[in-house]
Amino acid sequence: MASRGHCLELDAADPLAHLKCEFALPQGVIYLDGNSLGARPRAALARAQEVIGHEWGQDLICSWNKAGWFDMPKRLGDRLAPLIGARPGEVVVTDTTSLNLFKALAGALRMQAEGPGGHRRVIVTERSNFPTDIYIAQGLSEWMDRGYTLRLVDSVDELPAAVDEQCAVLMLTHVNYRTGYQHDMAALTRHAHDNGALAVWDLAHSAGALPVDLHGAQADFAVGCTYKYLNGGPGSPAFIWVPQRHQARFTQPVTGWWGHAAPFAMSPGFEPVEGIGRAMCGTQPVVSLAMVECGLDVFEKTDMQSVRAKSLALTDLFIELVESRCTGHPLQLVTPRDHARRGSQVSFTHPHGYAVMQALIARGVIGDYREPHIMRFGFTPLYTSFADVWDAVEILKDILDRRDYDINAARSAVT
Ligand SMILES: *Cc1c(COP(=O)(O)O)cnc(C)c1O
Repeated sequence: MASRGHCLELDAADPLAHLKCEFALPQGVIYLDGNSLGARPRAALARAQEVIGHEWGQDLICSWNKAGWFDMPKRLGDRLAPLIGARPGEVVVTDTTSLNLFKALAGALRMQAEGPGGHRRVIVTERSNFPTDIYIAQGLSEWMDRGYTLRLVDSVDELPAAVDEQCAVLMLTHVNYRTGYQHDMAALTRHAHDNGALAVWDLAHSAGALPVDLHGAQADFAVGCTYKYLNGGPGSPAFIWVPQRHQARFTQPVTGWWGHAAPFAMSPGFEPVEGIGRAMCGTQPVVSLAMVECGLDVFEKTDMQSVRAKSLALTDLFIELVESRCTGHPLQLVTPRDHARRGSQVSFTHPHGYAVMQALIARGVIGDYREPHIMRFGFTPLYTSFADVWDAVEILKDILDRRDYDINAARSAVT
């Protein structure tokens, strides 16, 4: 039977425990929302001061060269690559996940249109995918006005049959934002290829959360966030991966000057640069990009196998404690128990999920809420301890036992 003492022993034996001090976390807060906005690396404050005070303040425009601002999207992409099974020269950190998905999807549709799959007009994804991914696919399809349609699938079991001879692209998010369900990327990509489709993966809830092997899975394109598990800061630029084997054929519609072969030639004709640079569009938010590096620095002090081992131990413990200590309450686990199918979050439904989450937040346990009725708890092994898990469950138990939540709690704009 678990106890707080046992959790403290797990912390004492945890090879990642020392990384918690790399993050600035407020006293009295148990932060279980790193799947939505990662915590601040301690080093980010000094780095922001350097970028704003010195690089911008003193060196002004010279910093594009002198401080390496111009190369940052590619340099950071190369540093991020090993976390997702990509190679140098295949990733850029740029724009937003929504925009990068637009570019990747447009590129994939164009590759199909120019090849033997030219007749294919269907994009397959899940109805439960993160809405922006669906909206982007809808928007692109409608705007192209070439008969492209979106096929929304209601369960994982229906996916294989949905990838038929009409399917151009299978577009999936590797780990579901609501349930924490993890797809089998290699098997689904193989299935897509066997049926003539390309596979585009969104790694928003995978990058920095668990080991990803894009090359091992033979994936075609991928995008993802840096402000979640990679701790890049609010609104930090996202990433896009185009494997070397597709780069020469990859084109995308937002052909801005940062994707040009010679941006400072200032010529009136667009000529895409060779390599991953063609996935870029225009000038990047330098201050925000610089913060991404502070998040990546921490990952250099460990490896994704260790992160994954601790993530599974934390999520296993949380599930076990909630189910054994919060008995008699209408809580239902929606996250897979199977390790192979689980991301790095645990979601429980409760009929008053929103109110209970507000009560948790008021008591310093920060998770979040997603419709319908889902309380979402993200576990970030770099800065979450086993004792944190114990304490969070005890507070949850106390709130539920005493019904200490307001079922009329007003909804904020961000839940
Ligand atoms: C968080 C998330 C996004 C966010 O996209 P933005 O363009 O950064 O707002 C997109 N897709 C998925 C699957 C996500 O989880």
